[in-house]
Amino acid sequence: MTINEMQSVVEEWANQFTKPYFSPLSRMAALTEEVGELARVMNRIYGDKPNKSEENLKDLEEEIGDILFSLICNANAEGVDLEKSFKRKIDKVYNRDNNRFDKK
Ligand SMILES: [Mg+2]
Repeated sequence: MTINEMQSVVEEWANQFTKPYFSPLSRMAALTEEVGELARVMNRIYGDKPNKSEENLKDLEEEIGDILFSLICNANAEGVDLEKSFKRKIDKVYNRDNNRFDKK
C-alpha cells in the first residue's frame, strides 16, 4: 500500500462520520499520546528495568501503527500530501545532510 493509498483509506473511514476529524489541538494531543505510548513500550523493552516479553514486542508494532494512523489523520485534516512531504524529507537527508554522518 502506498502512502497516498493509506491516506485515502483513512479519509474514506473518517468521512463516514458527521465530523470526520477532531479539532486541530485534539488531533495533536492524540498524536502526542500515541508517541507517549510508544515511549512506554520502548522503556519496557530497553529501559533500566527491561521486560522484553513477546507481548511488549507486539505492543511496539501496535503503537507504531497507532502513530501512523494518527499522523495520517493530521495530514488529511490539514490537506497535507504525505508522499510529497516524505519526498521533501528524503531529498534533505540525501542532499543537505549527505555528509553529516560517517559512511561505511
Ligand atoms: Mg496506542
